[in-house]
Amino acid sequence: MAQSGSADDRLQAVVRLIASNMVAEVCSIYLLQPDNRLELFATEGLRAEAVHNTFLALGEGLVGTVAQTARPLALSHAQQHPAFAHRPETGEDPYLSYLGVPLLRSGRVLGVLAVQNATTRAYKLEEMEALETVAMVLAEMVASGELVNLAALHEAELVDDRAMHHHGVAISEGIALGHAVLHQPRFHVTKIIAEDTGEELGRIEEAIGQLRAQVDAMLSGDNLGRAGEHREILETYRMFANDRGWLARLREAIESGLTAEAAVERVQNETRARLMRQTDPYLRERLHDLDDLANRLLSHLVGVPLTAAGDDLPTDAIIIARNMGPAELLDYDSDKLRALVLEEGSATAHVSIVARALGIPMIGRVEGITDLLEAGDAVIADGDTGEVYALPSSEIVDSYSEKARFRAKRQAQFRELRDKPAVTKDGIAVSLTINAGLMVDLPHLHEAGADGIGLFRTELQFLIASAMPKLSEQQAFYTEVLDEAGDKPVTFRTLDVGGDKVLPYLAHAKEENPALGWRAIRIALDRPGLLRYQLRALLQAAAGRNLRLMFPMVAQVSEFQAARELLDKELARLQRLGHPRPLDIKVGSMLEVPSLAWQLDALLPLVDFISIGSNDLLQFFFASDRGNPRVGDRYDLLSPAVLSFLQHVVAQCGVHDVPVSLCGEMAGRPLEAMTLVALGFRTLSIPPAAVGPVKAMILELDAGKLADFVNERLSLPDSSLRSQLAEFAFDNKIPL
Ligand code: PEP
Ligand code: MG
Repeated sequence: MAQSGSADDRLQAVVRLIASNMVAEVCSIYLLQPDNRLELFATEGLRAEAVHNTFLALGEGLVGTVAQTARPLALSHAQQHPAFAHRPETGEDPYLSYLGVPLLRSGRVLGVLAVQNATTRAYKLEEMEALETVAMVLAEMVASGELVNLAALHEAELVDDRAMHHHGVAISEGIALGHAVLHQPRFHVTKIIAEDTGEELGRIEEAIGQLRAQVDAMLSGDNLGRAGEHREILETYRMFANDRGWLARLREAIESGLTAEAAVERVQNETRARLMRQTDPYLRERLHDLDDLANRLLSHLVGVPLTAAGDDLPTDAIIIARNMGPAELLDYDSDKLRALVLEEGSATAHVSIVARALGIPMIGRVEGITDLLEAGDAVIADGDTGEVYALPSSEIVDSYSEKARFRAKRQAQFRELRDKPAVTKDGIAVSLTINAGLMVDLPHLHEAGADGIGLFRTELQFLIASAMPKLSEQQAFYTEVLDEAGDKPVTFRTLDVGGDKVLPYLAHAKEENPALGWRAIRIALDRPGLLRYQLRALLQAAAGRNLRLMFPMVAQVSEFQAARELLDKELARLQRLGHPRPLDIKVGSMLEVPSLAWQLDALLPLVDFISIGSNDLLQFFFASDRGNPRVGDRYDLLSPAVLSFLQHVVAQCGVHDVPVSLCGEMAGRPLEAMTLVALGFRTLSIPPAAVGPVKAMILELDAGKLADFVNERLSLPDSSLRSQLAEFAFDNKIPL
């Protein structure tokens, strides 16, 4: 194989050698072409003219069947097989028996290697295995371009073949052009034939031992994700890792002469081929588990780490993974991270929260992407639309480069507004603060020129930890946040877990309606120790400085009072112990449950401020699950109903002279923010990336004029004022 000469000559030499060793009259190699046809590339025994002139479709003839099923086929009466297709140009008529094996690499069929005999011959299992081993070597050489210069032969088509356009779910906005980094790198086995089978058997035993220990540790350890689903997956892992059939097949493959790595690859190829034929989605899903397990086994064998986080990353890394936890994403050098593309993933997953915090685009639910991409492939990820392009054409690259330049230009314009106060044309100052929750958010506070942090989601520290953060850890974290924020105020929201934010280490029964269930302040009041610890950490971190805190999901005044009492107990404790207390403490309530809006006369005298959590509030207001795509956008926030409701709250707060802000996602969208200012909001808390666009809008707004415009329309029967508001913005040249 190492001999020089043209690609065809070398392949020809290979088939001749195989034919003579297998004592077969015919040996042929077919390679899968970009148009999904199998082309005869070399043959010993068939007519030489047929080379490059014989084509079979996937599924056509015996060769097509082997390629389509990705399984070997051994027949003593080939012509009797229902798929047999006669190709007169090859002169194969006299050959009765047939043995074909697929050329597989990382589960992908690259072609078929077949031998034929004139007599009716029953091929032995060892012969089939030997041919499969040769096919593995060939596949490796074909893929590496060593044997056939595929790239030169089919350059244009090959690029097209893997060039892909996928549509996933947009999870974190932004656009990235970069290069694929496979989070769990696929190992390409290059050494296939073992020198010492005994040694290889020893290596596989050892690696399996390590794998089992790893799976056991995952199951018993701290880093077990949420109970239930996650646990089930790991249990499946354990089952596979101890599956005797799997282990026996690995040993057999080594005994047939393969290295331990090649044996893992070979067994995995067979498993893939078997599972791919399954129609049962559950079983097909298990293929991912087995792939992951095989990959882990290879990583133990080769002794390299399981994820690419520690590797030499390209400076424009687009991480491709089936799924990952938030901590895994944080393991990557954030200077080089450009985007994250997952096969799974959802907007509320913790890794998504981290991706948004890091400001990188993220796309989820891109089916099959980990199998389709190779490390180093050029990729474009569009977090605005959910589009992913692999090996994009130059036109697509050009258009996206243009889009990225446009975004950068807008960002630069927003940066210029950084130090400008957000004041409307009629002189109303609006305070723009940001939503945050992790240390990585803190630099945005200053970069965006925000006035403070209006919502600090303290649960994120809890969500990304594998065990309940200790008092000292919580305190250290809050201290760091306050240090980083400097003189800008931070409003800490106490733990808001439950609902879609389940802590793996906090026992939580499955609920029919988690959004309406045991969450946030309900948990805090039932488990007061949890809240008291957090309050203690906050009070200690803020010693000698100002502290602002608020409670989530308050549905009735008594809940606020009970939480406030816990705070007072903690303050009394500080006093008792002679510890320093914060200079000033402001305590607020979130308004996320509509019932609270009808208790404002009782509540407002007790609070220092109100912050409206519109994400939750509006799903309760319309009784429409914000995470359910069928109803998520059924109702519009810019409806007279919502706007009247918000106006009522603002007016009540005005009467009691209590500051009110809004910290849900809606405040970050310029059209919605514009409307909120018209309704009387003077503080908005928004994602850092929204500060520029919202400020640009405010600078061009005449709030009084818009307030009149909105008031005139609040009693209309319309389900939404969106288009009328957009028209107002357009007519008044307000940038949205
Ligand atoms: C909200 O509900 O609007 C809110 C800010 O809280 P979260 O999104 O964290 O539930
Ligand atoms: Mg909420």
